Amino acid sequence: MSQVAFTQTLERLTAKGEHVQFWLRDDDAVVPTVALKRLLDLCADHSVPLTLAVIPRDTGEPLATALQARDNVAVAVHGWSHANHAGTSGKKQELGSHRPLAETAQELKAGFDKLSGLYPQQFIPMLVPPWNRIAPEVIEALPALGFRSLSVFGPEKDAVPPLLNSHLDIMNWHGVRGGRDPEELFAELAKLLDEQGRPKTIGILTHHLVHDDNAWAFLQALMAATSGHASCRWVSARGAV
Ligand SMILES: [Zn+2]
Repeated sequence: MSQVAFTQTLERLTAKGEHVQFWLRDDDAVVPTVALKRLLDLCADHSVPLTLAVIPRDTGEPLATALQARDNVAVAVHGWSHANHAGTSGKKQELGSHRPLAETAQELKAGFDKLSGLYPQQFIPMLVPPWNRIAPEVIEALPALGFRSLSVFGPEKDAVPPLLNSHLDIMNWHGVRGGRDPEELFAELAKLLDEQGRPKTIGILTHHLVHDDNAWAFLQALMAATSGHASCRWVSARGAV
């Protein structure tokens, strides 16, 4: 009944004259795939703007061509190669403090330049760190590299560059590695909506390459419930920071 709880929470907010903003971030795009087309079509059907976090090193013209005709798609920088430099013991990180800062900064600059060249219209100067992890000294280096926003997971904190985070991860990364139960996701979303410190813009995090039926079903149901709703607005990352 949790989708019902979500809808009821929305109605309560509507009665109070409140509005809810959402944004959609999808990670790990490199080349066009059937799954990516499905995501793009779903977003287009519901007029939902999409921010695609693209891994720069191995991407190129085929993805740029596939995205060219799509309205409402923004492209952000997803690290450089999505390589783990944290070794086998710690949590996976590409942008941690395991390497000299200059090396990390050089890769981020290369990623920024490559994607801004491939996407003259759709590029946004946002960094999405792989695994949502980044060392403080790398954050400090971002403005000088051209980045104007940063997106990780969880509540936003004051930061430079400013954060536009994701707050609901629809995947289960432990165990089955599929989409989480849609009812559980709607319950979590209802809680996020009801929180005192509700995020200004609630970020939904997806990974099209590993979506199963649960993941697609949740996304479809969420967009159907919100895209035409008087109190909900889906916004682009471009203007939301
Ligand atoms: Zn990733």
